[in-house]
Amino acid sequence: MSTVASTPAGTISRTPSDEVAAGLPVRTDLWVDGGFRPAVSGRRFDRVAPRDGRVVAAVAEGDVADVDLAVAAARRAFEDGRWCDLHPRERRATLLRLADLVERDADDLARLESLDVGKPVSHAKAVDIRVTLQTLRFYAEAADKSYDAVAPTGPAVHATITREPLGVVGAVVPWNFPLMMAVWKIAPALAVGNSMVVKPAEQSPLTLLRFAELAAEAGLPDGVLNVVPGFGPTAGAALGRHMDVDALTFTGSGQVGRLFLNYAAESNIKEVSLELGGKSPQLVLADAPDTAAVAKAVAVGVFFNQGEVCSAGSRLVVHRSRKDELVEAVVAASQRLRLGDPLDPKTFVGALVEAEHLERVLGHIGAAHEDGARLLTGGGQVLAETGGYYVEPTVFDDVAAGSRLAQQEVFGPVLAVQTFDDLDEGIALANGTDYGLGASVWTKDLSSAHRVSRRLRAGTVWVNCYDESDITVPFGGYGQSGFGGHDKGLAAMDKYTHTKTTWMAL
Ligand code: NAP
Ligand code: MG
Repeated sequence: MSTVASTPAGTISRTPSDEVAAGLPVRTDLWVDGGFRPAVSGRRFDRVAPRDGRVVAAVAEGDVADVDLAVAAARRAFEDGRWCDLHPRERRATLLRLADLVERDADDLARLESLDVGKPVSHAKAVDIRVTLQTLRFYAEAADKSYDAVAPTGPAVHATITREPLGVVGAVVPWNFPLMMAVWKIAPALAVGNSMVVKPAEQSPLTLLRFAELAAEAGLPDGVLNVVPGFGPTAGAALGRHMDVDALTFTGSGQVGRLFLNYAAESNIKEVSLELGGKSPQLVLADAPDTAAVAKAVAVGVFFNQGEVCSAGSRLVVHRSRKDELVEAVVAASQRLRLGDPLDPKTFVGALVEAEHLERVLGHIGAAHEDGARLLTGGGQVLAETGGYYVEPTVFDDVAAGSRLAQQEVFGPVLAVQTFDDLDEGIALANGTDYGLGASVWTKDLSSAHRVSRRLRAGTVWVNCYDESDITVPFGGYGQSGFGGHDKGLAAMDKYTHTKTTWMAL
């Protein structure tokens, strides 16, 4: 393939984002102790819509003093038992009512998410909001169906192993699935009785603020859930370093994840769990199934959510015998994905989250050129005249194993193609990064599927599919993709509880 083609752009609606925002439930104050209040400092920061670069809200900027107030509210709520001492059935009922309210407002929440972070509104509805609902209902239902244990000790003693909530849980979350990923933490933590203080990313506070208000409408007692928007180095660090926060659950970059380990070490040794990035391979063996199906899964696997997905399949590691045909099909599939206004329901690729991230992604593309990779499609910003931050689906071939594009997470719509001749080489390439979040293997041979799955170092391995997911299964990674208890699945509830052993002499 020698020519560089480009993706046809959809049309951009003329309705400016500030006008769209006027029709949506935009909340701009901190949510602390069951109500909205401005930041102690009185400061605010602008939220810019990625679709056209227009300011849609001025959000209260939480800082150390606000985190202190929120943690104090969460602590009071925990200590007086207004939530943790409820019958689990009542916690279940509250969380189910909250899910019903989110469902009632699903369209507004999806539009708000799309406006705030630039993701296609259809995906916001079909993925972010739908999974948020599933998550709330899953953990709500688990709240009153979890049993503790009696240990098999001898007859002279009786020992129980019980689970207790940790107390005040801090959560610091990213902007790529703002509400959904926050709720992956909020739902299990609240289901088992904790109180929480959540700091959304500065790029994406709007849906979580509205969610907190809906939680109050559902009957969640004041102080149990607090939302403090603000910046990482101030509000985020304050939560990480707080002496009265019992655990900190984080999703974001490895760079910031490390800081939370330091914060815990410098303060009260709070429990820390980290869900970090990835550079996930799609490993296509010589006997992979139908090329068209694989190509579509590869294109969607990397370009969904503009590539702003921690588990994006950002490397295609393909056997040489299948390479030309597959890469051609992937490029064609990429070019068919409709790029355009996130608020257009037909859009598949929306805008990147902010101008700074656009520059970062273009920097990765520049580095790929410098390192000798060969551009097959995309490669640049489009629709700049809208004021928004759009980058075309981009595919590079001949990406050397040690090069920056093979190793560094782009978190944008860029696919790196790497080729192998024998299986060991393919597996070494697939495993050859510091990360280990997701990986796929494509093969028609059952025993290869099993053997290769075992050898892939990743928290999730997909066989002949990509990005299958469900709230019932845990999600997290190997290596520098994080540790400390995965999100999702029943086991996530353990992450928000202490284990207590009680001995009783008989
Ligand atoms: P990020 O820069 O690490 O930010 C994540 C959160 O940390 C934000 O709320 C951020 O606040 C806060 N933060 C930033 N600097 C901080 C500091 N010095 N102290 C305390 N908190 C700080 O990540 P992002 O750019 O939002 O998201 C992209 C990254 O997240 C990617 O690496 C991606 O792979 C990873 N991610 C992983 C998963 C997973 O489940 N494994 C899921 C989604 C994303 P501000 O932004 O407001 O400053
Ligand atoms: Mg950030």
